[in-house]
Amino acid sequence: MSARKIAFIGLGIMGLPMAVNLVRAGHTVTGYNRSPQSVDALVGKGGLRGGGVADAVADADVVITMLPDSPDVEAVLTGEGGVYESAEPGTLVIDMSTIRPDVARTLAAAGAERGFRVLDAPVSGGEAGAIEAKLSIMVGGAQEDFDAARPVFDVLGTTPVLVGPSGAGQTVKAANQLIVAGHLQLLAEALVFLEAHGVETEAGLEVLGGGLAGSTVLQRKGKGMRERDFDPGFRIALHDKDMRIITDSATAAGVAIPLGAQVAQYVAALKNQGHGGLDHSALLKIVEQLSGRDQ
Ligand code: NAD
Repeated sequence: MSARKIAFIGLGIMGLPMAVNLVRAGHTVTGYNRSPQSVDALVGKGGLRGGGVADAVADADVVITMLPDSPDVEAVLTGEGGVYESAEPGTLVIDMSTIRPDVARTLAAAGAERGFRVLDAPVSGGEAGAIEAKLSIMVGGAQEDFDAARPVFDVLGTTPVLVGPSGAGQTVKAANQLIVAGHLQLLAEALVFLEAHGVETEAGLEVLGGGLAGSTVLQRKGKGMRERDFDPGFRIALHDKDMRIITDSATAAGVAIPLGAQVAQYVAALKNQGHGGLDHSALLKIVEQLSGRDQ
């Protein structure tokens, strides 16, 4: 694969290990992040320091954004000194953040007007998937832009799939977040249930993991939940944002998601209790509270 000049904006829990994997694959990666420590970390791994968005993207072939929420991506792409003002037309612009599908469509259209090739490419697989380059990547956009981005996706993950036109990647990601939240909630309920019956949960989860109830959620999150280790991972505040994306998108489509809407309330409650910085597996706390087992 030919080495590319990649600008990477947003070097948080996910972005930093993804950018490091691109450096390791031989690309020239210029990173920019609002707080500078993670840029230092990228530079320590062989990346370059971008002095700001405009500086980072100026001579890039590919721009990747990995930012918290829709307004952050809007600001970085369309704001003053942003990507659309500062990068060369023709540049491939890949937003890998999880944002609203309607915003992704608007941003793709605004980019296309200026000659950019824009893809929405949110990911699943969590921090471990980012570090191990095993992300699932759900892509919305044009086939030829997907083909052009494919070598970059292949460095970051194992399953890049073009799922439809602009915004479709984000719609699939919203479905992903619905499934993950529901699954975490039921895993939390099962764990508290097992504990209440005095069952040894390490053995319990091991056998559950081998049957139909087994899942990546159980494998990746079961141990931390057993040990009440809620270091993020994926922050409750971000999953709260995602539950609003899925509930709004379901409402817009006239689709009922009664269980998802209920779990969305639990995620919001955790955030409102001040737990927005904990891992989303902290849904266990809600089950403990509802069961009077949080003393
Ligand atoms: P994070 O908060 O750890 O990282 C976001 C980074 O963006 C931060 O370092 C922040 O300083 C930086 N940032 C914010 N605004 C900026 C701006 N205007 N310019 C430059 N930098 C800016 O979040 P994360 O966990 O890495 O998640 C990033 C995105 O990926 C989110 O949309 C999230 O929903 C999604 N996601 C996260 C996970 C996960 O497990 N953490 C998994 C899949 C998808």
